[in-house]
Amino acid sequence: MNATTLVWFRQDLRLNDNPALAHAAQLGTVLPVYIFDTNCPEHFKMGSASKWWLHHSLEALNDSLSEQLHCVSGVASEVLFNIVQQHNIKHVVWNRCYEPWQIKRDTELKKLLQAAGVKVQSFNSHLLWEPWQVLKKDKTPYKVFTPYYRRGCLSTAGPRMPIAAPKKIDIVYDSGLDDGVDSLDLLPAIPWFETMEQMWTPGEQGAAQRLSEFLPEGVKNYKNQRDFPALQATSQLSPHLHFGEISPNQIWHAAIASLHGNTEDAGLDGYLTELGWREFSYYLLFHFPHIAQENFSPNFEHFPWRTDTKALRAWQQGQTGIPIVDAGMRELWQTGTLHNRVRMVVASFLVKNLLIDWREGERWFWDCLVDADLAANSASWQWVAGTGADAAPYFRIFNPVTQGQRFDANGEYVKRYCPELSKIPAKYIHNPWEAPNNILEYAGVKLGENYPEPMVDLKATRQRALEALAQSKKLRGEL
Ligand code: FAD
Repeated sequence: MNATTLVWFRQDLRLNDNPALAHAAQLGTVLPVYIFDTNCPEHFKMGSASKWWLHHSLEALNDSLSEQLHCVSGVASEVLFNIVQQHNIKHVVWNRCYEPWQIKRDTELKKLLQAAGVKVQSFNSHLLWEPWQVLKKDKTPYKVFTPYYRRGCLSTAGPRMPIAAPKKIDIVYDSGLDDGVDSLDLLPAIPWFETMEQMWTPGEQGAAQRLSEFLPEGVKNYKNQRDFPALQATSQLSPHLHFGEISPNQIWHAAIASLHGNTEDAGLDGYLTELGWREFSYYLLFHFPHIAQENFSPNFEHFPWRTDTKALRAWQQGQTGIPIVDAGMRELWQTGTLHNRVRMVVASFLVKNLLIDWREGERWFWDCLVDADLAANSASWQWVAGTGADAAPYFRIFNPVTQGQRFDANGEYVKRYCPELSKIPAKYIHNPWEAPNNILEYAGVKLGENYPEPMVDLKATRQRALEALAQSKKLRGEL
């Protein structure tokens, strides 16, 4: 009998704290495989920025595995089943994924393999708490974050400690099987990713480096600084977490250790709570898989979203004439990321001031973000839109000018991404249309020429959003 265990890498592109790999390495020889699943439903196909990231992440993993990672593209379940048969594999291991289509695929494949006499084991490497383990007393899932996290998660056994990378991995390598990372064809033909290359180092080492740069000062200052987009005050670990180059357990325990276990510290509590929001997103996706495409709340079924391609385009391109929105959308385009506070501001502007369906924004983020994550993206968009579980109510509408004044008082962030406004004084940086002519002249800004006029009146569109809400309530028979 062949004692080789096939390790199927998916969203766990690391050697440390990788339970499936650790288990396989203990048993004997290992056949490490990554499959780019071409059978992914159209709607969930990876966006361009994510593909760029994945390419580099796989290169890094391949390096760590002495260039012996088998990379194949195709219908994952068929490819895997064929490899198992060709190599007479009797044991397959993987770490669990939680996207609904992946759960379906894995469940079916597991049955197929077991029927063929293959032992299949799956492990948790992606979440601190399994979604099915945290339930209310009546055994139904939580829908509100605070009781979910404080009562549901924190009162149960804490996240397990990370496990070390295997000391030795005996790899079985078959050159006939390995098409190489390049064969997956993940990089775009036009190299638009230069800024991203300067900013990010995909891979396990890049993730560890980010974490060590963030700790302990980042955690200490987290609560006070995390909302200011001009500061690099958050950990920027989300893409590394998404691709599993680092586990939430590694981050959780390293953050606590960096403050010597002082979980009373407000910064540490705030940081761990954000990891809790990540868990909650996965929890919602697991228990309510429709949230990836449909409103969580059926109350929005008749909501009168507008179709306005021109407005959507202006938003996507950072040409709305509202500086904090434009800076955010340009940051997203250039770097593949966007500060959380500004994600909320640009999302609110789209769904409330422009009255465009959150799914349009979610799609754009999906394509542009290097951390595009089905769970976090859909839950967060629904949170902002007011359509989600425990969401900000629709009638609470962010004013992008006051948000800018509060969180980017000197306009440092706006000026970084909208250099055409660099000479506008702080008083008008978030509302240049209110600046006197002599100030605009001094700053070299000609509204409508080298920077757009605001595309909407913020007050009037706020009112229009509230009326739309009232109208949808009427259609549901509530008013
Ligand atoms: P930190 O502040 O350092 O937080 C640490 C980790 O906690 C993050 O890396 C992330 O994994 C998690 N986290 C933090 N905030 C949230 C949150 N609100 N929801 C879920 N997890 C969170 N996050 C994604 O990972 N992928 C997405 O596709 C995504 N789309 C979003 C869309 C919108 C409209 C909004 C408002 C938020 C979205 N977020 C998404 C959540 C959040 O903005 C990012 O996780 C965060 O900005 C990442 O930066 P960071 O790693 O420096 O986070």
